[in-house]
Amino acid sequence: MSENPFLHLDQQITGDIYTSPEIQENLARLCDEFGSRFAGTEGERLAAEFLKTRLEAYGLKNVHLEPVDYLGWRRKEATLEVLSPLEKRIACISLPHTPARVVEADLIDMGDGAPAAFERRADEIRGKIVMANSEIAPAGVRRWIHRNEKLGRSILAGAVGFIFINHYPGYGPATGGIGHKGRLALVPGISLSYEDGAYLQRLLAREGQVRVRLTTRDESAPMQSWNVVGELPGEGEEIVALGCHYDGHDISQGATDPASGVVAVLEAARALSKYAGTLPCTLRFIFWGIEEIGLLGSSAYVQTHEDELDRFRFYFNMDSAGAVKEKGVMLNEWPDLAPLFKRWSKEMAWPFEVGQSVNAHSDHFPFLKAGVPTGGMEQVKKTLSGRGYGHTAHDTLDKTDLTSMREAAMLAARLALRIASQPGWPAQRRTPQEVAALFDKPEYQEAAAFREALDEYYRTHGG
Ligand SMILES: [Zn+2]
Repeated sequence: MSENPFLHLDQQITGDIYTSPEIQENLARLCDEFGSRFAGTEGERLAAEFLKTRLEAYGLKNVHLEPVDYLGWRRKEATLEVLSPLEKRIACISLPHTPARVVEADLIDMGDGAPAAFERRADEIRGKIVMANSEIAPAGVRRWIHRNEKLGRSILAGAVGFIFINHYPGYGPATGGIGHKGRLALVPGISLSYEDGAYLQRLLAREGQVRVRLTTRDESAPMQSWNVVGELPGEGEEIVALGCHYDGHDISQGATDPASGVVAVLEAARALSKYAGTLPCTLRFIFWGIEEIGLLGSSAYVQTHEDELDRFRFYFNMDSAGAVKEKGVMLNEWPDLAPLFKRWSKEMAWPFEVGQSVNAHSDHFPFLKAGVPTGGMEQVKKTLSGRGYGHTAHDTLDKTDLTSMREAAMLAARLALRIASQPGWPAQRRTPQEVAALFDKPEYQEAAAFREALDEYYRTHGG
């Protein structure tokens, strides 16, 4: 039996979280009152104010909003018309940061959108509108092939439009940002339900050629969002940060993604503020704006706070954490930290897995690129099945689970306590060369090479 030096605090924090109504009440405010909290909506502003007010009420210090200027986007009706071999209108929605445009072209079906398929069929794509479904792990691929990799590979091959098809029956179309680093995508992108997509795929397979007209009318304009920040000042210079984005997608309440994580971070802040006293490191809690259209809030933060990053001991990302089934700690390739987390799992009498992997799809990524030690609350043994109702109109409050959100808050609070109290920290901020070497590892090389090619393409092709 290993000794638990935090036993008394663990008991207070855990008991508090499991007997408090705060999580459920905060979740109801975020989802039922403020709605999607999508960037540019009134609900986004109200949610940011609300989070600030909660942090203040919980006794956190230096609570403030940090404004972020960005190119905003407003949804308008999109249309997809089949022109030949028959005439038909297909229901669709725009993908955030699509440009407003009319394109007429033939369809090409790229199926699951595997990178190898894009390579094999590159010559067929130019001038066409690509259809690809939302399957995240195409056959033969062992990593998550994100929507934007399918879109990006389409753009690199000369496609003039992109149609994203939900691979789940019955959930309607799935949304998701398609811009590039805050800019509009170079080609228009829309999304279809599984059923409408399957119809188009059958039509194309049967007829060999299908011509469509895709029209997007969305508006974009400069807007302002906010990261919401509060902290529990510590005795030393170092900072341990916990964060989750608070914006959802405009077609949804964004209840599991991300609100289940927002309330867990908020609850961890409340419990730690009440019981943990002053720790050796500062605990900083950050709610990110505009994650869903390209990690814009966290990217801006990492830029603005460059002079502080050396003091970041660890950034722990909690995106959707209250909806993670088997909660573990996914470290972003920090092998020296694994023994610590494994020891804490034993000490806490709360078994959790510790894994190592890197992806680019949430707010840890700007920190990771800047070399800061990062990780997230994730399922370590991934099923790679996809988002389910995430990013659809069905991600509503009724899909969340109170016990799971409490578990996320409890685990986050107890881990933050330990990360901040650990004498000596075995992870050093990576140099730019070390970051580059990480992305050069065989398992990350393909994704990194793709990101680089796309960056280069956007640099040379305006938008
Ligand atoms: Zn999210």
